[in-house]
Amino acid sequence: MSYVITEPCIGTKDKSCVDVCPVDCIHGNDDDAQLFIDPEVCIDCGACVSACPVEAIYADSDVPDKWKSYIDLNTAYFKS
Ligand code: SF4
Ligand code: SF4
Repeated sequence: MSYVITEPCIGTKDKSCVDVCPVDCIHGNDDDAQLFIDPEVCIDCGACVSACPVEAIYADSDVPDKWKSYIDLNTAYFKS
């Protein structure tokens, strides 16, 4: 299991989640539309969820159907 960043991050991307992550597994550069969570490093603590002002972050098992594709997008970001 891992946590996943979904569509609402796009256009906000304020990095509030980065500051609270105890394992520093949330990444993205200036060219990326959103940030991404490395599923291999995330320890499922959930701290980032309440830090996000736009409710973009979900446990992978709780991602709304319309944003399921973001599960693979987060994983793929760290394989490129
Ligand atoms: S759930 Fe915890 S470890 Fe995973 S990205 Fe969020 S803050 Fe980091
Ligand atoms: S706190 Fe939410 S909107 Fe801000 S960068 Fe993290 S996921 Fe994106």
